Amino acid sequence: MRIDSHVHYTSCRCFPELEEYRRRADLDKVFLLSTTRPDDGLSFNGAVHDAIVRDGEHYVGLGAFEYASSLSLEDQVLKMRDMGFVGIKMLEGKPTFHKELGRSICDPCYRKALDRAAKEGMFMLVHIADPPVFWDREYGQYVDGYDSFESYIGQMEDFLSMYSGLKCIFAHLAFLARGVEDLGRIMESHGNLLLDTTPGRWFYRPITEQREAYSAFFRRFHDRILTGTDAAFADSSTSGLLAAKPIEESLDIVHTVDRFLFSEEPFHDTFPYRVPVESLTLRGLGLSDLEKEIGGDNAERLICKGCDRR
Ligand SMILES: [Zn+2]
Repeated sequence: MRIDSHVHYTSCRCFPELEEYRRRADLDKVFLLSTTRPDDGLSFNGAVHDAIVRDGEHYVGLGAFEYASSLSLEDQVLKMRDMGFVGIKMLEGKPTFHKELGRSICDPCYRKALDRAAKEGMFMLVHIADPPVFWDREYGQYVDGYDSFESYIGQMEDFLSMYSGLKCIFAHLAFLARGVEDLGRIMESHGNLLLDTTPGRWFYRPITEQREAYSAFFRRFHDRILTGTDAAFADSSTSGLLAAKPIEESLDIVHTVDRFLFSEEPFHDTFPYRVPVESLTLRGLGLSDLEKEIGGDNAERLICKGCDRR
């Protein structure tokens, strides 16, 4: 089973392109993520719903909260459940979004809704922080008026403690938290936590720098890690963070993630660093024996099984 558990989808018009991506990337299933729309406080839930209605065998939907809706957040959870979504994507832990909303993912306003999600067996896919390099004093974008990187990792831990009955995926390997030991400790203390490997190609470098320690990490938590790519399907009206990515670029990311995790092939780091870095040849971690699990079986077993809402 090959599953891409992190794909953004914002327009029904992109369905043919999505199909092409799934076929060319040889994926059995794709998790489609809605997000809250920054311009009007609504969401892309309708587009994601359209895709899972068209083909519920290959597409799995995650909704998003709508802050401009007249429904309470708790009622929105029920609505998303009824729409057939297995979970909810929260981009609310991204520093720009956090700043705009003026509240963290631990804010009491989410309490009832997230308790309800736990009760309904829905899971949360949460984006917290961003690559640490974004906080670089000279080159970063989160210099003034933003919480520190560490404080976001603190919010993640608080969230996991507050909602210990809620299944959570923290995206992008939680930007590796405060390092491999710290991330191991967090995984150890929160059995409800899963991670996705969605690039952010930025983490190829830190993982390479501590190759042995991260190989051991992946082996230790082999049954709680999912693969994701951050492919994005959007029409031309969507710009910025969720703008469409060309299929070729998404396919390249799929292959790079596979190469990095499951082979020992050398390849070049393509992350567009803003800070000066030495060029680095990457070599895959060679976890070929974990390819089936991390590449899809974990997502199928942990998320899809028992979540069939249709
Ligand atoms: Zn994403």
